[in-house]
Amino acid sequence: MKIRSRKFEGRCAKHKGYNPGVDGQGGIRGGCARCQLLLEIWQTSIKLNQLIRKYDPSHDDLKRPPVVKSPAVDPRQMSFIAE
Ligand SMILES: [Zn+2]
Repeated sequence: MKIRSRKFEGRCAKHKGYNPGVDGQGGIRGGCARCQLLLEIWQTSIKLNQLIRKYDPSHDDLKRPPVVKSPAVDPRQMSFIAE
């Protein structure tokens, strides 16, 4: 069973700033059907995550992708230049 391989990039064309995870039901302006749908998709995905976690408690989907650090300037090199 493969159900979570897809990342959903849904966004309302009229309300690009609407984020169901942050704004919730109260953030939907003028009863917009697209925003309502996004909210329902988001709520369903939360529910899906809960069900999967219930089935497999060891599963951790809160892991963040590895942060790529930009090469930092070596402080020793900096002091060398300063001298
Ligand atoms: Zn909308």
